[in-house]
Amino acid sequence: MATEPISRKDFIRNSSILLASTCILSTAAAEEKVTENYAGKTLRLKNVRLETGFVYDQGEVIQTKTELFTIEIEEGKIKQVLPNDIHAKAIDAKGLLMLPAFKDMHIHLDKTFYGLPWQAHLKKNKTVKDMIAYEQQVIPELLKTSTVRSEKLIGLLQSYGTSYARSHVNIEPTSGLNSLKHLEAALVNKQSSFQAQLVAFPQHGIFYTKTEGLMKEAARMGVDFIGGLDPTSIDGSIEKPMDFVVQLALDQGKGIDIHLHEPGDSGLKTIEYLIDKVNENPVLKGKTYLSHAFALRYLDINKTDEIAERLGAAKIGIASTIPLSGNPMPLPALYKHGVEVIAGNDCIVDHWSTFGTGSILQKANVAAQIYGYRTEYDLSRILKLATGNIIPLDDKGNRQWPKAGDLANVVLMDASCSAEAVSRVSPVSSLIHNGNVVFG
Ligand SMILES: [Zn+2]
Repeated sequence: MATEPISRKDFIRNSSILLASTCILSTAAAEEKVTENYAGKTLRLKNVRLETGFVYDQGEVIQTKTELFTIEIEEGKIKQVLPNDIHAKAIDAKGLLMLPAFKDMHIHLDKTFYGLPWQAHLKKNKTVKDMIAYEQQVIPELLKTSTVRSEKLIGLLQSYGTSYARSHVNIEPTSGLNSLKHLEAALVNKQSSFQAQLVAFPQHGIFYTKTEGLMKEAARMGVDFIGGLDPTSIDGSIEKPMDFVVQLALDQGKGIDIHLHEPGDSGLKTIEYLIDKVNENPVLKGKTYLSHAFALRYLDINKTDEIAERLGAAKIGIASTIPLSGNPMPLPALYKHGVEVIAGNDCIVDHWSTFGTGSILQKANVAAQIYGYRTEYDLSRILKLATGNIIPLDDKGNRQWPKAGDLANVVLMDASCSAEAVSRVSPVSSLIHNGNVVFG
């Protein structure tokens, strides 16, 4: 729907009188986003469109029902979902669709070219080891401005409705702990409008470049996950690096999220090794993830099913960029066995790839195209890739989100329903994070 643009100054003025009914929602450039902090106050929105059910025809969902509501937000949470009151003194959402704010669950906020002159991937950088050598050259220069560029990158994600991320952060001898420190500084600066989980990522191998000590230090500095990287091709064996990662996670009470690009036998064996380790240490269930896990793309149907079942039973999740090249990731098999699947852009503009747009809704759209999720029902389900698995309607069409007590992390979309938002990659008109209006 059309919205009238307002100036940044006008927006701040309008927002400061919370109950004024004249605030107009508009989209501004990422760099101009304004965060309004409503701590201790009630933020009220009227004319908010929420999904309320499915319309069936001969057993098929042919449409999604919506109604307008008034929403109250207080202390960062949804306080009440009320019948719509068009006369309420409240911010007018003008019929925009409210969805859960988006989550990018695999990204590298610490190393990006975003904010620097354009540079495409270099042909000489073919293997992961080539990339390690290249990083050893460029990271010292990148680190000089990494805090401000991380913030800029976060601004880009926010402009697409993302207010939460899981960011891997380089832990290796070239940057030491500075990638982590710089990113933490950026996150402090953005704390009212954005949150991230951090993964200590040994991008240059754990033993290949002697990173054990740094990983232990990073684990003590407040990261949430212990990362890893292609144990066989980088560190020369599955057991030694994987045992290090698992033990460090156990010792420090962290989760695990390992980059596993290895496609063949070593990739599969690493997945099986991790499943065994998690089953031996059940405390790791539900907080262990494999990022990429490309080996799953090249298994026969029976093996895919077997591994998906074992991953589901061990509560090991898969973080995917929903790759377009090569065989597709077996998402349907993973879903069938209850594996938690999360999605991320991974690289936005960096020396690894320049194809990430920053939109995680686009990843749900790509998945819908790859896996043939074309119907109203299927499109409404796959929205979960963009939202960290929160969707407004349950599988039977009952409204399950938002409800009182939910975190007030929401977007307002120019779309009539989730299915349309996924299919059209609809524009985000407003982002609210923990009750703070980031823009809109
Ligand atoms: Zn990555």
